[in-house]
Amino acid sequence: NQRWVLRKRPEADITAEHLELVTQPVPDLEDGQVLIRNIYLSLDPTHRLWMSDREQYLPPVQVGDVMRGGTLGVVEESRSDRFKAGDIVKPVVGGWEAFTVADGKMVRPVDRHPDIPLSAYMSVLGSTGITAYFGLLDIGNPQPGDTLVVSAAAGAVGSIVGQIGKLKGCRVVGIAGGPEKCRWLTDELGFDGAIDYRNDDVPASLDRLCPDGVDIQFENVGGDIMDAIYNRLNLNGRLSLCGMISRYNDEGVMPGPKDFGRVLMKRLTVKGFIVIDYQKRFPEALEALTEWVSKDQLKWKNHVVEGLDNALDGLSLLFTGGNDGKLMVRVSEE
Ligand code: NDP
Repeated sequence: NQRWVLRKRPEADITAEHLELVTQPVPDLEDGQVLIRNIYLSLDPTHRLWMSDREQYLPPVQVGDVMRGGTLGVVEESRSDRFKAGDIVKPVVGGWEAFTVADGKMVRPVDRHPDIPLSAYMSVLGSTGITAYFGLLDIGNPQPGDTLVVSAAAGAVGSIVGQIGKLKGCRVVGIAGGPEKCRWLTDELGFDGAIDYRNDDVPASLDRLCPDGVDIQFENVGGDIMDAIYNRLNLNGRLSLCGMISRYNDEGVMPGPKDFGRVLMKRLTVKGFIVIDYQKRFPEALEALTEWVSKDQLKWKNHVVEGLDNALDGLSLLFTGGNDGKLMVRVSEE
């Protein structure tokens, strides 16, 4: 079995010294277990957090352990009465590895729609779509006519958030890096405006595109971009804090908005969330997302890196904006 093992905790950018690809035998199955051949491995910004020992929402990966990561695969062998060979599944806890051995109770079936590509279950119909769904609808509480601003808007989560916002009748502005990503948002996804933070003046562009202020901030980035949107939040505005990717490569604290008094003066609701908080409600999100996908009301892009040996280089793309859509590794053929 090919597996990536955490060798050293990163203090800044991830490099080759932090993760090592090793070959280990696949253990024999015990009663109740299944052997899964992984087809896709999701690469997520949170992997950088799991590699560090900062305070977080799950235990960090331990040095010497296989790197944790979401996977989708096919059951090759089963000693569980829940699954048979050929079933498409996701382990609750997957890893950066070619094969996963898991207890059948810790594996979820993938209820695949025949017309939808399997890779969609790693993005728009995976935790990406579910994150967008609950982060916007539960915390953002979008109402028709609201102005919604999304950061990392051309990314996996952000692009779905903006489209759901449009479906709910919001005016949607996205912030993304580079003219091509911005064009995709306005020309293909129907965003009302897009700001290229690499070339545009973000505060001035927000003033121009959101003349009536901002009702919902869906925050993926943190730092100056977060501050610029926050400073324009209206009375009773909502800040759904999904991520702060611009700070993940620093080991220090992740600073918040400078003017915290705005929460008081404008009666803001500021709430962080982690998608796993919503585990019991995943079916609700998947039902809605599948319907939107089937009706062509949601578009998405996947960025597929070929081969498990390229996983480490692939992960860095998230921190340079080199990914164009939901980043994942094709570990083996379907
Ligand atoms: P994306 O597909 O959005 O990829 C990350 C993008 O972030 C990059 O493409 C880049 O886009 C942007 N980015 C990276 N560094 C910076 C920076 N310094 N400044 C501005 N933009 C930057 O990844 P995901 O959709 O998987 O994740 C997006 C966010 O959602 C992350 O913060 C992640 O942690 C969070 N998340 C949270 C979850 C939760 O449960 N709370 C679940 C899943 C994700 P660009 O080219 O525009 O710069």
